[in-house]
Amino acid sequence: MIFVSACLVGEPCKYNGGHNRNEKVLAFLADKEYLSVCPEALGGLPIPRDPVEKKGERYISRDGEDHTAAFQKGAQAVLDLALHHRPTLVILKERSPSCGSKQIYDGSFSGKRIEGMGYTAALLRQHGFRIISEEEL
Ligand code: SF4
Repeated sequence: MIFVSACLVGEPCKYNGGHNRNEKVLAFLADKEYLSVCPEALGGLPIPRDPVEKKGERYISRDGEDHTAAFQKGAQAVLDLALHHRPTLVILKERSPSCGSKQIYDGSFSGKRIEGMGYTAALLRQHGFRIISEEEL
């Protein structure tokens, strides 16, 4: 079993109502069992929604709302699924404040990238799950 960010397989769950459909990811998954997950949707955030970036330890939208609780809820939901299904690999969208595994945006909404992990990626890694981004696949 493989877990994958839902937007990478074409589900329109991005903040702007779009997706990040990735043909390389889809080809890799074609003959495998997988479960697509969107932590932000599982956390109860709407689609579309204001973009969120990590500022310190909080997850703040561009309009200044604190969505940390929704990020925590969504990450916990994905962790619960992972503890149940025990995926051997988790493929997560790089730079997302939930799914990023090496880089995220710096909280200024200026497009500046920094090293860091999204909330869900960090929680899954803490629990020993193997995480890669679509860029590492
Ligand atoms: Fe994709 Fe993850 Fe953002 Fe959901 S939270 S839209 S799965 S990057």
